[in-house]
Amino acid sequence: MQNPFENALAQINRAAALTSFDPDFLELMRHPMRQVRISIPVRMDNGSLQVFEGYRVQHNNWRGPFKGGIRYHQDTNIDEVKALALWMAVKCAVANIPMGGGKGGVTVNPKLLSVGELERLTRGWARLMKPVVGPEVDVPAPDVNTTPREMDWIANEFGHPAVVTGKTIPAGGSEGRGTATAQGGFYVLEGLKSRLFLDPETSSVAIQGFGNAGQHFGTLCHRHGYKVIAVSDSSGAIHNEAGLDIPAVIAHKNATDKVSDFAGARNITNEELLALECGVLVPAALENVITADNVASVKAKIVLELANGPTTPEADDVLFQKGVTVIPDVLANSGGVTVSYFEWDQNMKNEKWTEAQVFEKLKVLMAEAAEAVWAKKEALKTDMRRAAFVVALERIHSAMPKM
Ligand code: NAD
Repeated sequence: MQNPFENALAQINRAAALTSFDPDFLELMRHPMRQVRISIPVRMDNGSLQVFEGYRVQHNNWRGPFKGGIRYHQDTNIDEVKALALWMAVKCAVANIPMGGGKGGVTVNPKLLSVGELERLTRGWARLMKPVVGPEVDVPAPDVNTTPREMDWIANEFGHPAVVTGKTIPAGGSEGRGTATAQGGFYVLEGLKSRLFLDPETSSVAIQGFGNAGQHFGTLCHRHGYKVIAVSDSSGAIHNEAGLDIPAVIAHKNATDKVSDFAGARNITNEELLALECGVLVPAALENVITADNVASVKAKIVLELANGPTTPEADDVLFQKGVTVIPDVLANSGGVTVSYFEWDQNMKNEKWTEAQVFEKLKVLMAEAAEAVWAKKEALKTDMRRAAFVVALERIHSAMPKM
């Protein structure tokens, strides 16, 4: 597996090569401001004590408090978290919200823990992170394998709702947060539809990863007339050229915990899903899935990155040469952090917005972000990722304090 932090640095360098940035600024952008590693002791249900490694990386906070999710995964490590923190700084700047970039994680397979063990792990993470996390300092959120339940535990541990976002509504969560990443990605796609000559009637969609982001995106596509021909999760992929009945696939996944063996489709592999002929390919699982090794087989016209870092820099170049438009993660999935920011804003002001108010504001910010990135891409005659990084770096640079 390629080092995701090296990939993130390569993305910075590629964007920097297109325009003239202050070298001191670029050097600072290559280093996270702070990296915290913790050892979390958890009393397991069988009475034994197990110690888990946890992380928080705070990349940059010139535009506002550090912001970014907490990931629970057996393969999570500090380099992955560093990359994700850098991408958060870029993403918040692309979305033009007053937040910086951070990310957290724990190396754990959460499927092997009971709810009680997960609660002790999460509260342990929060207790050890108290010196570096807070409403005006660093505001975590859910990421892979963490949910509103974990965020509620953290808010409860701190005794302040604004310390995390992505909470349940009774605990101070925002309307719309649960579906925000997919909703934002959909607004971006719709905003660019005419520029990309995309017609829902004739455009098929394939989605890798059928969790929070993937399921909601699939639902939106299905509802708006796009044909979702394939979806997948870690159990495998399913395909039906005539289009999947997404609500039925969700019901099947809820009942069996997997998408494979769905009655209205044939089982395929995740690799086969990536190689399907389709209008829009949506990686919505983990990073490094479109690489130099498999990019030649990608036949989609558009890649919309709901996952963070799914395309390696080498694969990016090949897609660009092939004329595939990659709508990069820092734009495509920035709806999640944008509504997280709305949640934090509501908590800080003690306000409650309706879902309609949240999505109205989200739509405006996503459309502005998509437009800014598209205009930069045209001006620099480059791909959308480099353009998004240039937009973000310009905005972060303008907030740089005197050193
Ligand atoms: P999730 O845990 O809800 O879902 C992840 C999905 O990916 C699951 O269906 C899982 O089975 C699947 N998966 C795991 N390994 C796979 C593999 N090898 N092949 C195919 N599928 C696999 O997570 P999520 O919240 O939907 O996040 C997915 C991606 O979106 C991550 O990269 C995350 O960083 C990014 N993202 C999420 C949000 C958010 O608000 N949820 C915001 C921004 C970015």
